[in-house]
Amino acid sequence: MALIKGFHRRRRDTWGKKVAGKIVIVAVGEVDGRILEGLQESVGKIFEKEVCMGQPLNSPDYAYNERRKQYFSSAILLKLREVQREIGDRVLGMTNHDLYVPSLNFVFGEADLENRVAVISLCRLSQEFYGLSEDIDRFKERALKEAVHELGHTYGLGHCSDPLCVMHFSNSLLDTDIKKASFCPQCEKRFK
Ligand SMILES: [Zn+2]
Ligand SMILES: [Zn+2]
Repeated sequence: MALIKGFHRRRRDTWGKKVAGKIVIVAVGEVDGRILEGLQESVGKIFEKEVCMGQPLNSPDYAYNERRKQYFSSAILLKLREVQREIGDRVLGMTNHDLYVPSLNFVFGEADLENRVAVISLCRLSQEFYGLSEDIDRFKERALKEAVHELGHTYGLGHCSDPLCVMHFSNSLLDTDIKKASFCPQCEKRFK
């Protein structure tokens, strides 16, 4: 099975540090607290934005697909649009559940630029998912990369050809491990 990462609706938008607003992280169902805490700080540093924790949402039963035993990420994005926020704020949902969109086996995350919401799944980022022993640092690092990548889309950034850039499209978890959690100089320039 091909590991296919990402499914994104993209549209050009104002991107950059000048964009007002903060980043609101929202747990969608049970999420590992160690991941949430770490992310809040690291995401804030990378985007130079205030990051706060929003009110957690219930487990997304409405998005569950019985046949696929997965959760439809676009349905979760719709729910995240309802999160109370101010103009310019981005909302990043995080869930432990495995996500999909109809055309792909699964997605690590999805972003909706128009409504400035994104969601990532932690499900396939842990070593345990692949039958390996736990590696919390690696798990945190992957979660950060996925979070920054999807949030990058909500600020209007597309995919980058630099394999080390966080906006590089990963076909597999290996690609995610290779790339950094930060932007390449080109993407960084667009961010300013
Ligand atoms: Zn992407
Ligand atoms: Zn880049």
